[in-house]
Amino acid sequence: MAAVASPPPDASLHSIVRKKLGGFVGFANLPNQYHRRSVRKGFHFTAMVVGESGLGKSTLVNTLFNTSLYAKKDVPLPEHDRPQTVAIESITADIEENGVRLRLTVVDTPGYGDFINNDQGWKPILDNIEARFDAFLEQENRVNRQKTIDNRIHACLYFVEPTGHSLKPVDIEFMRRLHQRVNLIPVIAKADTLTDDEVAQFKARILSDLAHHRIDIYQAPQYDLEDEETIAENEEIVRKIPFAVVGSDTVVATSDGRQARGRAYPWGTVEVDNEDHCDFVKLRQMLVRTHMEELKEHTADVLYEKYRQEKLLAMGVAQDHSVFKEVNPAAKMAEERALHESKLAKMEAEMKMVFQQKVNEKEAKLKQSEEELYARHREMKEALEKQRVELEDKKRRLEQGRPLTPEKAQQSTKKKGFLRA
Ligand code: GDP
Repeated sequence: MAAVASPPPDASLHSIVRKKLGGFVGFANLPNQYHRRSVRKGFHFTAMVVGESGLGKSTLVNTLFNTSLYAKKDVPLPEHDRPQTVAIESITADIEENGVRLRLTVVDTPGYGDFINNDQGWKPILDNIEARFDAFLEQENRVNRQKTIDNRIHACLYFVEPTGHSLKPVDIEFMRRLHQRVNLIPVIAKADTLTDDEVAQFKARILSDLAHHRIDIYQAPQYDLEDEETIAENEEIVRKIPFAVVGSDTVVATSDGRQARGRAYPWGTVEVDNEDHCDFVKLRQMLVRTHMEELKEHTADVLYEKYRQEKLLAMGVAQDHSVFKEVNPAAKMAEERALHESKLAKMEAEMKMVFQQKVNEKEAKLKQSEEELYARHREMKEALEKQRVELEDKKRRLEQGRPLTPEKAQQSTKKKGFLRA
């Protein structure tokens, strides 16, 4: 019979043939399918804002999404009437731009940094972020995962007071506690209260404080595959962190007669959308235009994943590395065969052991009966020998004509009877 040449084992898996298409097939349209599906399903994003009250958080959120998400605030409550803990409040709004829907949730933390002792101010916020991770984990573990709701925080805007000095201990403590759980984006609030030089120095000081305390703020990733324009755009965004922002939801007249969102002062106008005046545009660009999906992906793949692993490990669930092994049928068969062979070898060894044990027992029994036989044989031989000696003695006496003593005569009668029997 002719031998059939079989291909090398991995050839079928790894040989990729590059072909030129003869005509249009249609898969170039795949990105459009994604586009249509995404537009149909809409997008969602959850941002958290943290900072002392009065730093302009609500104004900035309204400015960012160009909507009055926050209603105009009443006059702040007097200090003794304010709540004594950090509250967590969320507002959700459906906003639409050119037919694309975005469900935006803003999580506010009123009360943060407003107490005499703010040492534990970070705790309710961290608990809230982790509770959202827990809720997602619980949904992932359900049998039916069709309707998973993602309430995880995708970005946390941390408002730094524009002191012009350095980060305060409360800022450092907050960021140190939360940087492993959320994408931290520090912003210098009310940057119009600082000069350009002060902003530059303050930024440098904040960055060195963060580096000193090993706090990881969100870093917009750079991809080699992207075009030069996108790379340059990303670099510019990264260079502006921490963003020095100005918020305003009112339109004012500029010095050259235009109308723009900004803040009017006796000496001029600060425009929020003017890159020469503040970094608001860069922040919005990163948050909304270029990195919204990145922020969500980083939350899901890095921050949540880390939390999930820590949580499951703490619960004693060990990582099953075999799950991640590539499934190789040949290796699996070899593994099963080896397992079967070791089972057979074990069974054979057990059978041999039982057999040997039985043989030993039989041998011991045989030896014992042999010894008993020998003993009986010896006894009988001795008895016969004794009898023979006595008979010989009797014979000799008879031959000599000597009468037996009455005792011997009795013994002789008994033996005769015994021999007869
Ligand atoms: P929140 O308590 O942090 O939400 O702060 P608000 O958004 O309510 O703002 C508090 C006050 O600061 C309001 O009077 C705002 O008009 C003002 N404000 C908001 N943003 C800015 C800003 O960028 N610069 C200046 N100078 N004032 C601002």
